[in-house]
Amino acid sequence: GATLGVLGGGQLGRMFVHAAQALGYGTAVLDADAQSPAGCISHHHIRTGYEDAGGLSELARRCAAVTTEFENVPAGALDTLAASLPVSPAGRCVAIAQDRAAEKAHFVRCGVPVAPHAVIETPEQLAAVSADLLPGILKTARLGYDGKGQARVQTAAELAAAWDALGRVPCVLEKMLPLAHECSVIVARGRDGAIVHLPVQRNLHRDGILAVTEVYEGNLPPAQVRQALTAAQSVAQGLDYVGVLCVEFFVLQDGSLVVNEMAPRPHNSGHYSQNACDVSQFELQVRCMTGLPLVPPRQHSAAIMLNLLGDLWFPPGAADQTTPAWDKVLALPGAHLHLYGKTQAKPGRKMGHLNITAATPEAARATALQAAAILGIEAF
Ligand code: ATP
Ligand code: MG
Ligand code: MG
Repeated sequence: GATLGVLGGGQLGRMFVHAAQALGYGTAVLDADAQSPAGCISHHHIRTGYEDAGGLSELARRCAAVTTEFENVPAGALDTLAASLPVSPAGRCVAIAQDRAAEKAHFVRCGVPVAPHAVIETPEQLAAVSADLLPGILKTARLGYDGKGQARVQTAAELAAAWDALGRVPCVLEKMLPLAHECSVIVARGRDGAIVHLPVQRNLHRDGILAVTEVYEGNLPPAQVRQALTAAQSVAQGLDYVGVLCVEFFVLQDGSLVVNEMAPRPHNSGHYSQNACDVSQFELQVRCMTGLPLVPPRQHSAAIMLNLLGDLWFPPGAADQTTPAWDKVLALPGAHLHLYGKTQAKPGRKMGHLNITAATPEAARATALQAAAILGIEAF
């Protein structure tokens, strides 16, 4: 059978490998790390860097199509591969998603509202920042994730100091907005332009990291759901995007929607689809890259996803790394545990997630609260 390739061997790559293998494909993972969660379980593990010519040519030789799971894979590597086989998403889309300034410009082109912001690449641009943008969040244009590479600033002096501390790299300053909550949408777009989506997810972040996703009827007002879907579809169409794309939004206290950022791949907030929908975001990724039909996914259960961060392996008072009480969690009906095979837990490190499914939102919430209590996760 055909082999499908993925650049990056993290947990998203691992779950892509599961979905590809379930559909009968072989898999090849390119990741230099011998212990990478996806490389460990793949038919082929090419252990080179993303720009290694030998690694890329081996991947091209083995595979019928290639995708990516890593936020910061060099767009040039995707372009190199695209000379010999189908690559989705395209390097040019990934390049836009990797640069907050280019990403915001794309959102504006699509007519989707963004936070008031300014690009800061020079001392002149820093000096010219309007006081309207303060208090704000200074974010590096590239390489930030999970709230890293960001500083909250109140005044022009704090802004200047923060830019220094970030090494004066190109940044975007965003006005701090009064958030009511956050939501996101996963869309999948095929080579023929056909587009399907998962239900809109309501997300809770803690310390800049996704903590909880809730997806069920009534998780958001219908008007917000419609706006988020329309905006996500314009963002994908405007890029002539092929593949799975996540678009993240802020919902402001006045109910209006502002796009935050996009991820050119399956996303942590879409993990509930593994157990609550008849097609998961990873199966959508496989279908997009191979040109298989994109059927609209149907959610059959109310769902709550709890992220399992490395902190859980170090409960208060424990001297060493411990294993959370999975047996107690798995005694709860509708609890689906996903662990990524990372042996070393670190605070803030994504180790796994727990999907809770139930017949009703109330039952899902009740079970999720029980699971959170067992694990010692802060309530939501
Ligand atoms: P990810 O891991 O999702 O890529 P990131 O590092 O790119 O995260 P952002 O999504 O930019 O970070 O911000 C992280 C979180 O910080 C947001 O989900 C939101 O809770 C908060 N935040 C970011 N920008 C703003 C803003 N302009 N106003 C208010 N809150 C914000
Ligand atoms: Mg981001
Ligand atoms: Mg984000």
